[in-house]
Amino acid sequence: MSEQFDLIVIGNGSAGDGIARTLGRQGKRVAVIERSHLGGECLNDGCVPSKALIHLSKRAACEGLRWDEIVARIQAVQLNVSGSDPNGGMAADGIELFWGDPEFVAPALIRVGDRELSARDVVVATGTEPGLPPTPGLADASPRTNRTIFTMPERPDRLAVIGGGPIGLELGQAFRQLGSEVTIFEALDRIALTEDAEVSLELTKALELCGVRIETKATIECVTRDGGHVIISTERGTHVFDEVLVAAGRRPQIPRGLEKLGLKVDRRGFIDISACGRTNLPGVWAAGDVTGKLQFTHYASYQAHHIGEHVMHGTCKPVPETLVPWAIFTDPEVGHAGLTEEEARARFCGVRSAVLRAEELDWFRTTEQTGGFVKVITEGDTGRLVGAHFVCAQASTLVGEACLAIQHQMAAGDVASTVHAYPTASELFRWACAQLA
Ligand SMILES: Cc1cc2nc3c(=O)[nH]c(=O)nc-3n(C[C@H](O)[C@H](O)[C@H](O)COP(=O)(O)OP(=O)(O)OC[C@H]3O[C@@H](n4cnc5c(N)ncnc54)[C@H](O)[C@@H]3O)c2cc1C
Repeated sequence: MSEQFDLIVIGNGSAGDGIARTLGRQGKRVAVIERSHLGGECLNDGCVPSKALIHLSKRAACEGLRWDEIVARIQAVQLNVSGSDPNGGMAADGIELFWGDPEFVAPALIRVGDRELSARDVVVATGTEPGLPPTPGLADASPRTNRTIFTMPERPDRLAVIGGGPIGLELGQAFRQLGSEVTIFEALDRIALTEDAEVSLELTKALELCGVRIETKATIECVTRDGGHVIISTERGTHVFDEVLVAAGRRPQIPRGLEKLGLKVDRRGFIDISACGRTNLPGVWAAGDVTGKLQFTHYASYQAHHIGEHVMHGTCKPVPETLVPWAIFTDPEVGHAGLTEEEARARFCGVRSAVLRAEELDWFRTTEQTGGFVKVITEGDTGRLVGAHFVCAQASTLVGEACLAIQHQMAAGDVASTVHAYPTASELFRWACAQLA
């Protein structure tokens, strides 16, 4: 006999946790199945340890921190964020937690260990794992990923990073700040490809200025491990490192049994969902990174909130379109809201853009953080804001105001006519908008 629940959630990352707690707190009988650790990639191997490492890398020199002390401090931060209850306070939220690697027997019937659970609704929120490019020799060279880099026994003197996206850039710069020689290999012609081209160029210059080597259009022919060294050969030459970090994309983690049941996935293998979050299997929903949409904690939570409501009320309304900002936590930081200039010009007529450099503003001068700029983009006669792209100190925070303005269809003039406190970084956005008002 199977144990009956209202809802079974597989995976306890940002998406799964939100849905399970929403229904558990409303008195539904909820089971969560997790196979490795509570809190998902963000807490254990992603956002939290990476942001802690970045923070500590800036203090390491003046506090004289050794690598083992940094590892211990990162773990303390993770514990602080997760709280000390090994079951994540689930019982208090009315959730039964099952540890194990579940297998779908039928869409609403799941085996975990020697127990069988069934429910009217099942949510798959199993996230992603690091992808490994099919580069000859790479898999055998014991590459590091975000799952192993934060607990390495030693800091490498020479670190190769494969992939010039947010994860590679953030971690590459952090290790450079800790004293490692860092080379980032990017196959495409620029790093931070999702960013406005000018932002990407500014970030390249800033990273190079702090000593990170960046090789774009890099084709890695093979990787070899020779004892304590990793040898990377590209068409431009051979480089020797102590460690190689792979940060070149993510692949979905699909629970066992779903393929056999005919689960529909997209061409990259992510779970296909309808606008309201349903998969093609009856009663089975999916949320978060495993659906291959925007891979951010805040987006997983947003999507989960709406899917949780649908499961709760038996509805299936489209998850509302919304603007999703993001940040790259390099120095300078990057903040992204809305369309890049290239995207805006492809979509609208009468696009205008303005750039204001941080060095023009007193807050950036007084704090000696004058690098970078903001670019704001408007469309048509209305002057409606459609994009804002920051590459400067505090960009990850500044982007929040830009997101609010774009989401609520404000014109550049609306922002320009709003008084901002002096001297603050927030004035950068206001005065950039004033150029288009
Ligand atoms: C290095 C790094 C830095 C990042 N930094 C940021 C950042 O600064 N800001 C940001 O917004 N996002 C960041 N992200 C992305 C963020 O971590 C993800 O978007 C977020 O974790 C997605 O949440 P999720 O719930 O969809 O999946 P996950 O967090 O991946 O959770 C999935 C859970 O499912 C479990 N699971 C998997 N398969 C099974 C199975 N078969 N059975 C049972 N359980 C299973 C896993 O163990 C995991 O606990 C970062 C990611 C990385 C890798």
